[in-house]
Amino acid sequence: LLLDPQKFRDTYLTAKGEKRAYVDLNELKTLWFLTGSRCNLQCEHCYIESSPKNDRLDYITVEDVKRHLDEIQELGWETKHLGFTGGEPFLNPQMVDILEHALWRGFHCLVLSNAYRMINRHKDRLLLLNEKYHNQLCLRISLDHYTEEYHEKERGPGTFKKALENIKWLHDMGFQVGIAGRSLNDKDQETAHARYQELLQAEGISLPWDNPDLFVVFPEMDTNKDVPEITEACWGILNKSPDDVMCASQRMIVKHKGQDTTTVMPCTLIAYDKAFAQGKSLRDAKQPVYLNHPFCAQFCVLGGASCSS
Ligand code: SF4
Repeated sequence: LLLDPQKFRDTYLTAKGEKRAYVDLNELKTLWFLTGSRCNLQCEHCYIESSPKNDRLDYITVEDVKRHLDEIQELGWETKHLGFTGGEPFLNPQMVDILEHALWRGFHCLVLSNAYRMINRHKDRLLLLNEKYHNQLCLRISLDHYTEEYHEKERGPGTFKKALENIKWLHDMGFQVGIAGRSLNDKDQETAHARYQELLQAEGISLPWDNPDLFVVFPEMDTNKDVPEITEACWGILNKSPDDVMCASQRMIVKHKGQDTTTVMPCTLIAYDKAFAQGKSLRDAKQPVYLNHPFCAQFCVLGGASCSS
């Protein structure tokens, strides 16, 4: 069933006229930066729709990152974790400088990468950063499946071996490295977990399997399918707390094309929808987030996905 066009139209009310659920920011545990929407791959189900040609989100700069880290300090927030996602972060010409600055300031940094070629350009500098800031730096690589066939259906020919090679290199060089997989055609996530472990262990790669930041298998979502709208009453009915949803503790910084500065968005899932833009400064990030997007129901409230634990 396709998404009902009457749903997700009014910020505060659902199509049935009920009060839409909202989420307050309790504490900013993780600040994400979307480093740019360009990617060196064009995956079939990328929810950011990244590709070599997608420039709807500009590359963020060291200055952009500094500004928001200064804000965290000025606001007296205790945020310790930063995440970097794209697009492919290592396409951003300033990515390693950005990391160096953030690590120097004491933040723990998680970088989500496809490990397909771009990482190779930065190996020397990454080794230096890892030597200096090993405990603060993690790279999580997207491996869409534990078989070459399914991974390459999504990501294109030649991508599986390259990604595995780079995962192995990062592992052998002593980086904190992780994997983001997908359950695709598996009957459940446990099966997918087990198959990923088998593949990686056969390559001599051992991961902290219990750390959800470093080993995660995302459930499959059909973004066109009809989903219920989440009302205030849903929290009780589903026995779920708004505090468990990503936007209760995370925000993401993006730079929309044509804007001279960055914008605060509620989470990593919603990058373009300007109705969700919270302003230019983290001071604006305290506004409640009304769950007026199909992803809110599908990924978060009903699906339980999060980019970071
Ligand atoms: S998609 Fe999830 S994290 Fe993002 S605004 Fe909706 S509920 Fe919050």
